[in-house]
Amino acid sequence: MALLEIRNLHAKVAGPGGREILKGVDLTIEPGQIHAIMGKNGSGKSTLCQVLAGRETYEVTEGEIIYDGKDLLELDAEERAREGLFLGFQYPVEIPGVSTSYFLKAAVNAIRKHRNEKELDAVEFLTLVKSKMKLLEMDSSFMNRAVNEGFSGGEKKRNEIFQMAVINPRLALVDETDSGLDIDALRVVANGVNAVKKADPDKTILLVTHYQRLLNYIVPDFVHVMIDGRIVKSGGKEL
Ligand code: ADP
Ligand code: MG
Repeated sequence: MALLEIRNLHAKVAGPGGREILKGVDLTIEPGQIHAIMGKNGSGKSTLCQVLAGRETYEVTEGEIIYDGKDLLELDAEERAREGLFLGFQYPVEIPGVSTSYFLKAAVNAIRKHRNEKELDAVEFLTLVKSKMKLLEMDSSFMNRAVNEGFSGGEKKRNEIFQMAVINPRLALVDETDSGLDIDALRVVANGVNAVKKADPDKTILLVTHYQRLLNYIVPDFVHVMIDGRIVKSGGKEL
C-alpha cells in the first residue's frame, strides 16, 4: 500500500476570493522511497507541503489525500504530526526561551504516547539525542540553545534535519529555502538526509527544491516537475 496518495488535489488561499494555487496534483509515494519535486519559484511546491502538513492558510477545494490508509484531510495539523508526518519549516520560527532539547523531548513523547509506546525519560532521551547528533556530526552546544534563536540559515537548516532525525517521522517533507541557501547549507541538507536514510532505509522522504544541484548530493528514486500548481512530468533521477 502507498504511504501517500494524492489525487487531483486542488487548493486555494483560504478566505473569500483566495486564488487557486494547486490545480490538480497527483502523486503516489510508496514506503521507503525518496521523491523530489522540482519547479521554479511560485509553482506551488511549498503550498503542497503546507497543505500536507495541515496549514490552515490554504483550503482544499477538490481531490483527496490518503496517508497510511487514512483520509489525511480529516486530521488536523497536530494529529498529522502524531501520525508521523513531519514538515521541516522553510523559514523556521525562532522560539526564544524554549531550548531545543525541551521542545524535542515533548515532540518525541507526544508521538510515542500516540503509538502506545513508553515515553522516554531524561536519560533515554539524552541517549537518543546523542546518537542523532553523532549521526549528523553536530556540536553538543546546540541542544542548550533556544530553538532557532540567533541561528544562521545553515544552522536552522541543520537543526531542522536534526529534528527530523530525532522525531523519526514516517514521512518527512523537506522544503528548501528559496533564498540564502548557500552551498554549505545545501550540503548540510543533503548530508543530513543521506545520513538519516542510511540509518533507516525505510524512511520515506519528499524533498522540495528549485536547486537542481541539490540532486547532485541526494539521489531520489523519483523526480517530479511542478509547473503552475500541477505535476507535469515524472521520472527517475535522470529527469
Ligand atoms: P514555490 O514553493 O513553488 O515557490 P509557493 O507554493 O510558495 O511556490 O507559491 C505558489 C504561488 O502561490 C506563488 O505565486 C505565491 O505567491 C502564491 N501564494 C502562496 N501562498 C500564498 C498566500 N498565503 N497568499 C497569497 N498567495 C500565496
Ligand atoms: Mg517554496
